[in-house]
Amino acid sequence: MKSSIKKSTYKAIYRLLDRVSPVNFDCGTLCKSRCCTYGDIEDDDFGIYLLPGEEKVFNGDEEWLRWTCEEALFYDFPDSWFGDLFFVRCKTPPTCPREMRPLQCRFFPLAPHMTEDGRLVLILNDESLPYSCPLTEEPDRYPLEPDFIKATYTVWTHLMRDRLIYDLVVFDSNDRIKRGTVMKTVYPC
Ligand code: SF4
Ligand code: SF4
Repeated sequence: MKSSIKKSTYKAIYRLLDRVSPVNFDCGTLCKSRCCTYGDIEDDDFGIYLLPGEEKVFNGDEEWLRWTCEEALFYDFPDSWFGDLFFVRCKTPPTCPREMRPLQCRFFPLAPHMTEDGRLVLILNDESLPYSCPLTEEPDRYPLEPDFIKATYTVWTHLMRDRLIYDLVVFDSNDRIKRGTVMKTVYPC
């Protein structure tokens, strides 16, 4: 899919997010890194999709990743999403080159949401997951780091300038609003 976001912008976003973590300890110790290890790397139905254009950051021959290229039309994405969409699966989870983690790994457990009055906010991930994440199940016990929250918000404000990514956030937000499942806003409050 055509993206307006340059490779250099994605690289700058990666560098910014390299400096922050959701909590001030390795949260993988709470759950044996379930968000990295729950899937079967040979299963095509499982994988992390890259945002449009994010594939530019990779060479495509990284030995720690298995790639597939899918037709966006066949997945639950906005109508404007058609063409090739890249999915990756880690071959050695939870070990990976930290500076090369895809954005979906870096944002978790936050998700962007567009409110009914058109404001971009961050909420805790509300997708149904095949594992439970202590950070989303017990947010009071494991509060997210303020610098992680702010950096994630800054990144989303930049990403939203791309039409396809804007459409994705609005698509997911409208779905939540329709289902009445909008979570409490994490930032800005
Ligand atoms: S983000 Fe949640 S599921 Fe993933 S390692 Fe941390 S606590 Fe576990
Ligand atoms: S890229 Fe790293 S952080 Fe993301 S799922 Fe794979 S092992 Fe986990």
